[in-house]
Amino acid sequence: MSDRVEDRLFQNRYVVDVGRPHITVRPHETPSQALLVMTRICPAGCYSQNEQGQVEVAADGCMECGTCRVVCSKTGDIEWQYPRGGYGVLFKFG
Ligand code: SF4
Repeated sequence: MSDRVEDRLFQNRYVVDVGRPHITVRPHETPSQALLVMTRICPAGCYSQNEQGQVEVAADGCMECGTCRVVCSKTGDIEWQYPRGGYGVLFKFG
């Protein structure tokens, strides 16, 4: 097994709850610093900027680490819940 984190993360699986993302970004014109930070530090690369510069989240692949929940806790930029039972990340250990 490779030691690269990307290769290890690829071993995980994700069950998408179609139409019910567990993270949503509040609509905005200009992203806050907290949202911009998330485009760089989310370990699963779920946050990105669209062509208009707004920050979007694609929660597929989210590892539920909670970093975005903490970073955006005071700004109210996102809504965050754990996925429903049976959905979300399936970690592969070992
Ligand atoms: S919980 Fe962690 S992995 Fe999921 S979107 Fe937030 S920062 Fe990324």
